[in-house]
Amino acid sequence: MTSMSIAGKTVDAWEREIPQLKDILSLKEIFWINSAKLPFEEASKLVPYTKENINDAEARLNRFAAYLRIDFPETEVSKGIIESPLSSIPSMKEYLETVYHSSIPGTFLLKRDDTLPIAGTIKARGAIYEVLKHAEILALEHGLLKSWNEDYSLFATEAFKSFFSNYKIAVGTTGNLGISVGTVGAMLGFDVTVHMSVEAKQWKKDLLRFRGVTVIEHESDFTNAVKKGREQSDLDPMSYYVDDEHSIELFLGYTVAANRLQKQLEQENILVDENHPLFVYLPCGIGGSPGGISFGLKQIYGDNVHCFFAEPTHVPSMTMGLMTGKFDQVSVKDFGLDGLTVADGLAVPRTSKLVANIMKHFFSGSYTIDDFETNRLLSALIDKEKIYLEPAALAGVPGALRLCRSEEGKSYLEKHDLTDKMDQATHIAWATGGSMVPKDDMDQFYEVGLQSHAIATPR
Ligand SMILES: *Cc1c(COP(=O)(O)O)cnc(C)c1O
Repeated sequence: MTSMSIAGKTVDAWEREIPQLKDILSLKEIFWINSAKLPFEEASKLVPYTKENINDAEARLNRFAAYLRIDFPETEVSKGIIESPLSSIPSMKEYLETVYHSSIPGTFLLKRDDTLPIAGTIKARGAIYEVLKHAEILALEHGLLKSWNEDYSLFATEAFKSFFSNYKIAVGTTGNLGISVGTVGAMLGFDVTVHMSVEAKQWKKDLLRFRGVTVIEHESDFTNAVKKGREQSDLDPMSYYVDDEHSIELFLGYTVAANRLQKQLEQENILVDENHPLFVYLPCGIGGSPGGISFGLKQIYGDNVHCFFAEPTHVPSMTMGLMTGKFDQVSVKDFGLDGLTVADGLAVPRTSKLVANIMKHFFSGSYTIDDFETNRLLSALIDKEKIYLEPAALAGVPGALRLCRSEEGKSYLEKHDLTDKMDQATHIAWATGGSMVPKDDMDQFYEVGLQSHAIATPR
């Protein structure tokens, strides 16, 4: 293993270059500070996307609200906008402070994307956006829509659905991306195919088939399912492939969350400025959702928002991609990690080059969380707040404590002159999914979590 070359270097050479790599490879929980982060003004000059791209995506979602409230009546209460509440979780906060023996300074909030309408995970933000944009382009190209000013409830009519039935959408996924793409794609009338690896959860396959989607199971891991799906789709000119690894549309769909969050913080009279820092902790798989949301928040709050992403100890793909500077050229499996985790939404061994490249100067850092801790937090959140999250969605929850307790975290706060401002800080743990999980599966997660209380030692 050690003599094998990974992106041009041996493991030994990588370990000499990156001191924290040893801990990562021995599956320790780590806190990592991104030394490539730049002040916002400088970092922005190096990327081709701006606030304008975000506002454009937001306007598109606003146009489609008239459609969504018809075909997805659960969005009627929010007038066709797919958004989630920002909640305080005082009992969970108290629990965390007790088991970690330290306090969380400032305000601690949970962003409830587990309750997003239509698909119940953070994927609803990026994936539904991408499908809607594709539908809009087709409708404009073929004259079904004359302009953006028309009433988009037209998309709910038979004429539109019958038009879209001539077109295909395909996606390769561990599950949640497929649920978002499949649900909206099929409802619009598209012929949708979702490629999954055999080990993807059975209930996700069943749900998709129930919603009229073709599910193809591949005898291989996630990366290969994605590749196979892309190859098949590329052969067919009528087929559009939603590409988790390379899609700027997915990324831009996620960014809109930032504009919405800004309004929610204002409604709660929560200030974000130089003396009132905002910290967000986002679970990270391939990187699109934490990347997009962080990018959006940076456009609004600049250097006053600090974005950390969280990964399982067995699958720190974005952390390793950024640490090595090799992005998608390194897989955690090259380094001997097995890539296995209970947090299936995060089980992506190789990060997105597109996202890593955009975000390398914006992310503040990351940390890893082991499965025992994930399970334990899952059952604790049910006990304390009656909030049912899927494992991946817990990764952001210990972020504030990890920042304030770890040596790396403390030095980050000092370096940015934040140590004395933490009482005025706001921490947001992004809960990324949960409401779709069947009760039996959730009961099982809960049981495993209870057992983990005895085993896990909080760091
Ligand atoms: C996909 C997913 C994530 C991570 O999003 P990426 O864009 O893959 O980084 C986090 N939580 C859940 C529940 C997910 O499904």
